[in-house]
Amino acid sequence: MLIVMKPNATQKDISCVVEIIEKLGYKAHILPGAATTVVGITGNQGALDSAYFENLSGVAETIRVTKPYKLVTRDWKPNKSVIKVGNAEIGGDELAVIAGPCAVESREQVFKAAEVVAKSGAKFFRGGAFKPRTSPYSFQGKGEEALKLLAEVKEKFGLNIVTEAMDERGVDLVEKYADCIQIGARNMQNFSLLKYVGKSRKPILLKRSMSATLDEFLLAAEYIMAEGNYNVILCERGIRTFSDHARNTLDLSIVPAVQRISHLPIVVDPSHASGKNYMVAPLAKASIAVGADGLLIEVHPFPQKALCDGAQALTPAQYLELYRQIQIMHKIICECEEVAFA
Ligand code: PEP
Ligand code: MN
Repeated sequence: MLIVMKPNATQKDISCVVEIIEKLGYKAHILPGAATTVVGITGNQGALDSAYFENLSGVAETIRVTKPYKLVTRDWKPNKSVIKVGNAEIGGDELAVIAGPCAVESREQVFKAAEVVAKSGAKFFRGGAFKPRTSPYSFQGKGEEALKLLAEVKEKFGLNIVTEAMDERGVDLVEKYADCIQIGARNMQNFSLLKYVGKSRKPILLKRSMSATLDEFLLAAEYIMAEGNYNVILCERGIRTFSDHARNTLDLSIVPAVQRISHLPIVVDPSHASGKNYMVAPLAKASIAVGADGLLIEVHPFPQKALCDGAQALTPAQYLELYRQIQIMHKIICECEEVAFA
């Protein structure tokens, strides 16, 4: 249930509503708005009696949420969320480009990649320190040593760092060095990990699992938000289908589907969706056309030598050219929309 406060509700009215919710054993989520404050209730099993809340001082109305999720929805927050990541934003007017190698391999490799990403104008650098690999014999990432290199990249290039954590210990480490914690596709329904990052104050990049429905994807985000971390960025990275011409099937329809229901920003990862270098640019452009808030792109200074995901990595030259093109495309799409709504 959502409790919409009157525009003239006092801080005392809001605190009183929160106190009552907590006394009932539920969790209260305060969302201050431009005109009114909304208090969301989570943790209740059945329907709540709206009359009970409607009679409280400062309460304008109550809204019953019939969807399985609450905090991710536009019922709770009608306007799009803009998530602050380090000194930049995701979900705002600018297209967010999160780029870098699949894994941090060496100082030379990560600095070369970061130089290219900084040169492009992108504000986010991504490199894996903890890699979820299908085979236990594959390169697993360099752990804290890699995180330290990422912190150096941040310092030198002013880029905001996004990197994956696979477990609670990893979250504690990533929090120390990075600006945004990635939860990978394989952990999208690791509910204890979702709850754990829900207690973090760092923004979370939540990748869709390869077999998640829209509801499952949004409920995974809800897990994080229900713990009080409202800074979630969704990421479509391709799903498993019968098609075998690409690593995964990029499900672009999830972008408008998410945007219809949710205020959360959604970015698209054409690198893991395709697994193939030559598909990354066309799929990146298609993602912008459907209204994605950003892109996650793998770029490696020497893709043929990459320890992980080399086949999908762009070369620096390919990446810089793609970055140039997508900026133009994004501007055109925004202008078209402005004209359409004028
Ligand atoms: C990655 O982002 O490097 C990765 C492993 O992606 P995913 O979790 O989408 O497979
Ligand atoms: Mn990768």
